[in-house]
Amino acid sequence: MGQIGYRGVYNKKTKNPFRISRSKIELFTECQRCFWLETVKGIKRPNTAPFLINSAVDQLLKSEFDIYRKKDEQHPWQKEFKVDAKPYSHEKLDEWRENFVGVQYEDKDNNLVLFGAVDDIWVNKDGELIVVDYKATAKTKEITDLDPSGWHDVYRRQMEVYQWLLRRLGFKVSDTGYFVYANGIATNEGFYNKVEFRTNVFPYHGNSDWVDGRIKELKTCLEQDEMPPVGASCAYCPYARQRTELTLEFMRSRNSK
Ligand code: SF4
Repeated sequence: MGQIGYRGVYNKKTKNPFRISRSKIELFTECQRCFWLETVKGIKRPNTAPFLINSAVDQLLKSEFDIYRKKDEQHPWQKEFKVDAKPYSHEKLDEWRENFVGVQYEDKDNNLVLFGAVDDIWVNKDGELIVVDYKATAKTKEITDLDPSGWHDVYRRQMEVYQWLLRRLGFKVSDTGYFVYANGIATNEGFYNKVEFRTNVFPYHGNSDWVDGRIKELKTCLEQDEMPPVGASCAYCPYARQRTELTLEFMRSRNSK
């Protein structure tokens, strides 16, 4: 199908549906002002460097799970971690995994196209789809669950948005998704052109009830002319304010001389 809808800065007058990615929903959740500045005014926060090692791990995991998908067999980790499911085959799977295309749903009420690219989809014995997200990191502690402190909430919301999208397309989707979490081992004797990983597969029980309401709020934000308030947890705006105040003070003192 390719991508549908309009990309770029939001235009209240256009009849074309506006594209909102999963990461834009996350940006809105974190800070309405940053979301509004980017989508309505075209002012983006500077990009951070991409995590290319993580992308390489994702790509290799996709290729590996595809081998078992073709054979219609369980991956050994599905057996090891007692996941009663197999990799799911669907003619659109490659599209659903493609960045900037992904699983797409046209929300006619809000005139938006919501989309997000999944890492993988498995299917259980009841025919329910299971959203799967691959993660890679390098921590000393073994990772067997999401962190309860809240800094993994972005991963929880990510999975819940994918579950919501697939349900919107009419699929039966399990509340239980899985994280395939690869943890790089940094305690080996040397590098020798190789990093070993220990991978754990663990479930997460999602609840996507919040998504509909968040999309309505997001649409209201797109339509507003006033700059919304900043989110609570970002340090950039206080930093920028202090810098600006100092610069103005410096300019004033220079002009008064
Ligand atoms: S607080 Fe952070 S996220 Fe919000 S507008 Fe400022 S820079 Fe953007």
